[in-house]
Amino acid sequence: MAKVKFTETALRDAHQSLLATRMRTRDMIPIAEEMDKIGYFSVEAWGGATFDTCIRYLNEDPWERLRQLKSEFKRTPIQMLLRGQNLVGYKHYPDDIVTKFVEKSYENGVDVFRIFDALNDVRNMEKAIKVAKDQGAHVQGTISYTISPVHSLDDFVKLAKDLEALDCDSVAIKDMAGLITPNAAYDLVSALKEETDLLVDLHCHCTSGMTPISYYAACQAGVDILDTAISPLAWGTSQPPTESMVAALQGTEFDSGIDLKLLTAIKKYFEDIKEKYLGLLDPISESVDTDVLLYQIPGGMLSNLISQLKEQNAIDRYNDVLDEMPRVRKDMGYPPLVTPTSQIVGIQSVMNVLGGKRYKTVSNEVKEYMKGMYGKSPSPVNPKIAKKIIGDEEVITCRPADLLEDEFEKYKSEGEKEGFVKSDEDALTYALYPPIAPRFLKGELEEEEIPSPHPIDADEGIGIPTEYSVEVDGDVFDVKIMPTGFIEIGGGDVPMVEADPDAVSSPVQGMVTKINVNIGDKVGEGDTIAVIEAMKMENDIQAEKAGVVKEIFVEQGDAISIGDSIMVIK
Ligand code: MN
Repeated sequence: MAKVKFTETALRDAHQSLLATRMRTRDMIPIAEEMDKIGYFSVEAWGGATFDTCIRYLNEDPWERLRQLKSEFKRTPIQMLLRGQNLVGYKHYPDDIVTKFVEKSYENGVDVFRIFDALNDVRNMEKAIKVAKDQGAHVQGTISYTISPVHSLDDFVKLAKDLEALDCDSVAIKDMAGLITPNAAYDLVSALKEETDLLVDLHCHCTSGMTPISYYAACQAGVDILDTAISPLAWGTSQPPTESMVAALQGTEFDSGIDLKLLTAIKKYFEDIKEKYLGLLDPISESVDTDVLLYQIPGGMLSNLISQLKEQNAIDRYNDVLDEMPRVRKDMGYPPLVTPTSQIVGIQSVMNVLGGKRYKTVSNEVKEYMKGMYGKSPSPVNPKIAKKIIGDEEVITCRPADLLEDEFEKYKSEGEKEGFVKSDEDALTYALYPPIAPRFLKGELEEEEIPSPHPIDADEGIGIPTEYSVEVDGDVFDVKIMPTGFIEIGGGDVPMVEADPDAVSSPVQGMVTKINVNIGDKVGEGDTIAVIEAMKMENDIQAEKAGVVKEIFVEQGDAISIGDSIMVIK
């Protein structure tokens, strides 16, 4: 049996899963030369959420990151994660943008394209696959692995055959939530090896705790490539540790031949990096959470959900949201939970819980999904819910991107005219993220600070003591005081401001991106009166009853909190 190869995820998935994708290029470059000596099948270093984070938070040009990495990795192929027709964004882009993006990604340094679609709809992958093949890249088609009443091994094998027919070089089993059991991994890898000539890669997260066992089972079934992360960035919602997997296979027929001693320097380096970014590491995402076996939440999504709920001051509703997710997923026809369906299902679940009523607030993405614009759902959507969300609007059955007009030239000329687009790469950045790219491209963005892991630093002498001895009736108790996220003043007796019963309030914290009505306008029940961007989704705010707009309290661009009044309709 052939040796097993490794894809190292430290520079993409591992920090996306554990450190909110915040690792800077300057923290990658110093170790690249060492990593290049290992003999990995590839280093995953680009795509996924890295593109978005670069221009949203880090004031870094993702294209420049790619070029810098390429100049360091002289023998190791650089791998990217591409969301099929969604590229590195959250919606379908027209074919001309997909073509240009894949061409430029290859030109700037991507050697291996892992291409997936959240619904496993091959029509959403075929364009990117073809263009990447035309460039001469290694193309890895992907099975977004999930468990549901409507998914079977045969479906996954059929998908792999479709990907092989499109000329893919390998197939990845993308197990976002670490759900694959050793037995299922053995069966699926065996079937793929038997029924196709593709190299098979297993990509799992450790969330459920089963993953290293499943990796070994996959080896026994003939897997070719395993995805792992160097140990300081492994476990939890990330991949299994590279060193442990290399050691486990040593001396067996699966021995990778990787030198464990060489991995030590890399491990040491990333220990320091982890320390630097510790303020971003949520202990929940680093631990095993067997709830994932019930909720099927992928690695990156869990840590995102936690930070989004914190942002919404609603972390106390975490368990309610976890309970709601499987229901929303069922309503949507059991999509695998991976970007963008994970965000769509996750945020709709948040809305359903925080809004007090299911589907009262619906994101545009959910509407589009219900119209078939994301592709074919694994099983039909709940017709009652669909009716509530899209009414009698037509549901499409064609390849979704066939309905999209070319857009690249439009963005390019518009950005050039404004002066912030100076290359095709800039134009792509703009086309992918129109609301946020201009600020970045104009150089107006500042790099976000890395949060300190110790908000109250007693060593500095400015801290507030958090441990006290308290005497009650002569007994001394040691008391530790920890923040819980809010301070209640006056023991809960603060009078509440009486809310206007005719006011429409915001179900989320976010930014008002659109106000669709003016004072004096008549609105009908269910009309969209405003749009609020929250958690990277545009959420329509609907009138709960018909009436006339009496007062509007917000303007476009305003930040808004949960419960803030948007307008009064009487
Ligand atoms: Mn992953």
